[in-house]
Amino acid sequence: MMKKILLIEDEDGIAEGIRDALLPFGFEVSHASSSENGEKLLNTERFDLVLLDVMLPGRDGIEMCRHIRTKGLNMPVIMLTARDEEVDKVVGLEMGADDYITKPFSMRELIARIRAILRRRDGSGQTRQNPGVYATGNLTVDFNTQTVLRSGKPVKLTGTEFAILKMLIDHRPNVISRDKILNEIWGYTFCPDSRIVDTHILNIRRKLECESHHQELIKTHHGVGYKFTGQE
Ligand code: CA
Repeated sequence: MMKKILLIEDEDGIAEGIRDALLPFGFEVSHASSSENGEKLLNTERFDLVLLDVMLPGRDGIEMCRHIRTKGLNMPVIMLTARDEEVDKVVGLEMGADDYITKPFSMRELIARIRAILRRRDGSGQTRQNPGVYATGNLTVDFNTQTVLRSGKPVKLTGTEFAILKMLIDHRPNVISRDKILNEIWGYTFCPDSRIVDTHILNIRRKLECESHHQELIKTHHGVGYKFTGQE
């Protein structure tokens, strides 16, 4: 089965290179040269993943990523960044991107990133440790349907956020290191920057932890990593 990828990139040369490189690996790329054109495609087709350039005419990639999440679409989004300042924005902001890759990148690296993120998503379902549903306090996590309820109301997590939450719950009450999260979720064996983990954790906390309850479900162990503290 071909996987469908939406590529939003204003430089035609780069877009063509990506499309040609991905096709032999089973990825069918639809190219949009602006966020606005990308949105038209998103409204009419289903995509498995979005590759989103940061610098775009009109609505930029960061705004577009936020917009995709606001629409309730939760497919993985990989940002294509050109400069260090953009990387800071991408990993520092809570806009819901799953990963980023810095230009110029090799096609081999891009394919590896895409595969890691799709493999993890396809594989995240039921596990031995989690037979279906986990509940703590006002939180219910259904691993089969990948849904999360807080006080009975659905919480919208992206696929990556769900996979991290699942990993934390699977390993509770142990602390998981950032490196382990980077390796299991993103497939990195080496990553110069673990802020992408911290940003995802921040987003998950913001969505899960009802302020009125002052619950700290995910605890930070400084310099090490994170652990899930919910009780059955
Ligand atoms: Ca651009």
